[in-house]
Amino acid sequence: MNRDGRSRTRTYAVGALALLALATGCGDNGGGAAPAAAGGSSAATPQPAAGGAVPTSPAGTPTTAAPAGGDPAAWAKWNLKPLAPAPAPPADKPIKLERTGPVPVFSEVKTSDKVVFITIDDGAEKAPKFVEMLTELKVPISMFLTRDIVKNDYGYFKPLQALGNHIQNHTVDHPVMSKIPAEKQKSEICDAQSALTQQYGTAPLLFRPPFGDGANTPTLNNSVQQCGPRAMVLWRESMQIHDMQYQAADKKLKSGDIILAHFRGPKELKGATMTQMFGDLLARIQEQGFSVARLEDYIQAPAS
Ligand SMILES: [Zn+2]
Repeated sequence: MNRDGRSRTRTYAVGALALLALATGCGDNGGGAAPAAAGGSSAATPQPAAGGAVPTSPAGTPTTAAPAGGDPAAWAKWNLKPLAPAPAPPADKPIKLERTGPVPVFSEVKTSDKVVFITIDDGAEKAPKFVEMLTELKVPISMFLTRDIVKNDYGYFKPLQALGNHIQNHTVDHPVMSKIPAEKQKSEICDAQSALTQQYGTAPLLFRPPFGDGANTPTLNNSVQQCGPRAMVLWRESMQIHDMQYQAADKKLKSGDIILAHFRGPKELKGATMTQMFGDLLARIQEQGFSVARLEDYIQAPAS
């Protein structure tokens, strides 16, 4: 729908949007303008596991490398201290999604596991070295991809996906969703959904609005419902170049926090590379004693 005749406009729009994304830091610019944070957006986070028990792995199998384990020598190669291995994913998922109805909006996961979740957005920087890094370190990430920012090289993200990382929906061309009409919201989400599904072989379960904008509006919620994703995901921290910007006043990670980062390169990172930025992010997580777990392992998809 609506594809013909718009592609040219979109091509031009991408450059402008890329600039916008840089200028605004994709909604996480300094100065606390992040609408994403507004009002404790975890309102829809479901209840904790029944009985409050900490879920354990079904077989009780101990500590062999859960997602963020990896080879200690690999960490040394990247000048990093290994993260503590993540615990086994909870059998009873803290977030349970429904097949129909309003989608929940959350920026954290209720869990007592000492884990945080890394999400990486947009898809502009496509550095081979980052694929090498993730392949060696096996740190789980979730990728919220913008169709027109990745369509020149969908293939870049496939080895990252092959590591077990999920591809999620971040619109066609990164607009401010509250400034566009419902019909346009819908094409932004639905067209990205179909392109990402076709390219990556699985339909995104999650959606993130650019800049976190509009997440708590009924209009956007309704648009998301019509396109397939079953939740909107915001964040508690956003990675800059060497450190995170925290919404919490104490500037500390909490269990279950979702962290926003971006596929960015030296132009956006004042000369730092994607792998340097990601290494610094892991160091900030490691020094606060957290592991990195896979967000989708804490979410139960709707029964089909
Ligand atoms: Zn973005």
